[in-house]
Amino acid sequence: MRRILEIDPANLTVTVQPGIINAELKAAVAEHGLFYPPDPASYEQCSIGGNLGTNAGGLCCVKYGVTRDAVLGLEVVTADGTVLRLGGKNVKDVAGYALMQLFVGSQGTLGIITEATLRLRPAPPPKLTMLAFFPSLDAAGEAVSAMTARGLGPATLELMDRATIAAVDDWQQLGLDREAAALLLVESDLPGVAAEAELEAAEAACRAAGASFTLRAADAQEADWLRQGRRLAYRALERLGIAHMEDVGVPRSRIPEMLRAIEAISARHGVPIPTFGHAGDGNLHPTLVFSRDDPTAAERDALVRDALYRAAIGLGGTVTGEHGIGLARKPYLEVQRGPEVVAVMRRIKAALDPAGILNPGKMV
Ligand SMILES: Cc1cc2nc3c(=O)[nH]c(=O)nc-3n(C[C@H](O)[C@H](O)[C@H](O)COP(=O)(O)OP(=O)(O)OC[C@H]3O[C@@H](n4cnc5c(N)ncnc54)[C@H](O)[C@@H]3O)c2cc1C
Repeated sequence: MRRILEIDPANLTVTVQPGIINAELKAAVAEHGLFYPPDPASYEQCSIGGNLGTNAGGLCCVKYGVTRDAVLGLEVVTADGTVLRLGGKNVKDVAGYALMQLFVGSQGTLGIITEATLRLRPAPPPKLTMLAFFPSLDAAGEAVSAMTARGLGPATLELMDRATIAAVDDWQQLGLDREAAALLLVESDLPGVAAEAELEAAEAACRAAGASFTLRAADAQEADWLRQGRRLAYRALERLGIAHMEDVGVPRSRIPEMLRAIEAISARHGVPIPTFGHAGDGNLHPTLVFSRDDPTAAERDALVRDALYRAAIGLGGTVTGEHGIGLARKPYLEVQRGPEVVAVMRRIKAALDPAGILNPGKMV
């Protein structure tokens, strides 16, 4: 089920089957001068069905919203075989409960998505790209908070810490500054001089927060390399040992506190936790790295994850910003949401899938 069923430029929509790979969809609509924004770092491998199942985010979701924001219509098959058509091409439609939105992010536990109508935009201009290097993680976190407070809306606002910078640079040889404690990748896709102005404002916020230096990508090719470097962060860390990517989120003003908590947890448990992520969304991927022959890895992994989840919840955050509850985070759903909310989720699951045949045992 990998077909594009329709590209509709008049309505700025595309209708697809769920097996199509995100990058294939982006490339197909780009031929019509159109743009499908959600771009998980895994976009060359992941399917639209998987993106809908997890309500995936990505690098430019800070500006354009996550997968749910891009969905206008779904065809869903429920556990008893009923085919539901939810939404369509209407931009506004409030007839009844928001069932379509409920299926997005339900991780295949409520129904199988067999078709999706997604929002497109006219393709934006090529991005202007800036890197800002910081002497401390705190300073980078402060810069993100400052950009949020100033209402800046860059197309990309991504963070990599020192260990991630080194791992990416060892692999890709991008010439990144390994002395820096952190870098921010900031991009603007506004037209013409507006992009310059946006990056200048971002640069000012970075300098005020203590950036040691900033630089612009010389051309589109260099910008692509830098963006690709960020996308490859997890793969780069996998080269160091057994890497386990986490997915916590916090309100953006609390990123500095979350980064400090990650450092403290790393020191307390003696586990390296390189961190990167979608800083502009407050969504960080602390990545636990164990040596391949460490017999205590599984046990310490559980302890560290518990500490990370509780730190995020303690800051008003979430145990998962975009990857989903699945199995690994299942015990923490109730810790974060509370028993009343999880009880409602279970009643919804029971109503739609009374025999529990859809992705059994996951999430709720
Ligand atoms: C290196 C790397 C980088 C990543 N970067 C990001 C990122 O930037 N942002 C992000 O959000 N995630 C990211 N991820 C996580 C992952 O790629 C995403 O969650 C992606 O959306 C999963 O897509 P998939 O096709 O692999 O789906 P799967 O893993 O196959 O499925 C994901 C979930 O969706 C459900 N599902 C799949 N198809 C359907 C369907 N047709 N109907 C109903 N439910 C369905 C499945 O049951 C499952 O619960 C990253 C992962 C890796 C390894």
